[in-house]
Amino acid sequence: MSANLYDLLESRFPADRSKACFLLSDGSAISYGELERGAAHVAGRLVAEGVAPGDRVALQAEKSAAAIMVYLGVLKAGAVFLPLNPAYTASEVDYFLGDAEPKVFVTDPPAWVSEAVDAAPMETTVARGAGDLACLIYTSGTTGRSKGAMLSHGALAANALALHEAWGFTPDDVLLHALPIFHVHGLFVALHCALLSGCAMVWLPKFADAEVLAGLDRATVMMGVPTFYTRLVANPGFTRARAQGVRLFVCGSAPLLPSTFVEFEERTGQRILERYGMSEAVIITTNPLAGGRLAGSVGYPLPGVELRIGGPDQTGVIEIRGPSVFSGYWQMPEKTTEDFTGDGFFITGDVGRRDPDGRVWISGRAKDLIISGGYNVYPKEVELVLDELPGVAESAVIGCPHKDFGEGVVAVVMGTGDEAAMIAEARRQLAAYKAPKRIVFVDELPRNAMGKVQKNLLRQQYEHLFEG
Ligand code: AMP
Repeated sequence: MSANLYDLLESRFPADRSKACFLLSDGSAISYGELERGAAHVAGRLVAEGVAPGDRVALQAEKSAAAIMVYLGVLKAGAVFLPLNPAYTASEVDYFLGDAEPKVFVTDPPAWVSEAVDAAPMETTVARGAGDLACLIYTSGTTGRSKGAMLSHGALAANALALHEAWGFTPDDVLLHALPIFHVHGLFVALHCALLSGCAMVWLPKFADAEVLAGLDRATVMMGVPTFYTRLVANPGFTRARAQGVRLFVCGSAPLLPSTFVEFEERTGQRILERYGMSEAVIITTNPLAGGRLAGSVGYPLPGVELRIGGPDQTGVIEIRGPSVFSGYWQMPEKTTEDFTGDGFFITGDVGRRDPDGRVWISGRAKDLIISGGYNVYPKEVELVLDELPGVAESAVIGCPHKDFGEGVVAVVMGTGDEAAMIAEARRQLAAYKAPKRIVFVDELPRNAMGKVQKNLLRQQYEHLFEG
């Protein structure tokens, strides 16, 4: 039997194909039937253009329903989908195209799909094995060359089914989808849950406060990155009444501030469900749908995921093995070997610990670990202390070259305050070597499209802080 992910998704489309899949801001809708026909025409056109199973098809475009028709059409044709951030510059795109060598590069999905109608639609989905490559996702990689994570049909299907179950999706749900679709969060986590349950999506091109607030009136589930939630709680129009029809708010892709979790609960009476994932494995852990969701914890491994903490300490690098883990980095066999243990666990590079209940707590990326005077400083521990101080919206703690200590602890704080008083307070709460030696105040922290703070940029910017 074929393990093509498209077969699985299509088998769950509603029997009544006139049901809306995409609810658009102008009040119109695109049905499941239209999505299915669009995918069939795209697949037909790809084959007519000479695309064979396993060939890559790249897409760089703004978010649209047509882009999803291209995605599904690529799967249906047995080809490999490669989404690219529309913000990438021409020279960045050159790198991806050179590395992945796609047969077709789509930049205008609405036009491409409408032209595809001239090609005979593909009626039967191309058979694929569970281990065959479905998508190539380039990691946002903050150092070195961006790597293409190879995700198979079987890996994506396993994760989608597990999430659909864990988060209790039904055909009556309406998912508010304001995430980008060039990243695993919007493309796999959110979209696959909706398609597997045959439910409708409030389909927003991006997060815009007014549209999101209006969308919440129709939605039952929202998925977002932490910045969506900080923006919601900062908006007085986001009220308890606005949130009451929503049964589930999911957050991930970057750490959710405990203060946002608390403010959100105070405002709405609901707890955000935080989960943890990455391009190389889609979702790894989630807080439970029923039962305790704790601020700062990313919950428990999904069924089928084995998670262990490498190293002798309680806190260490998270290693995972399971059905949704990627098959390796595209054309980088040495890097792939380096990032897997001998017994097949992927070394995530995230540092964390498990509590006695089995919950996972993430304390940052291994490469963000600061070694100051020979002592290990986990930035998260310092950030949690600083974030509680008055005037601090959010902090990012980094190590900067220091002639005595190797690295000196520096806090970049979004907000205002008195540097000396804050350092003194940090020293009161933390061992002296963990307290920042300098605090820099900024209006905004640099973030990528998924809301992740770009610590590599901060390290560059403050490289010379301790000189002179
Ligand atoms: P990406 O591959 O771009 O999705 O980035 C994955 C990385 O995002 C992970 O390795 C984590 O470092 C981080 N991440 C994702 N979700 C969370 C979360 N809930 N809490 C903390 N970090 C997260």
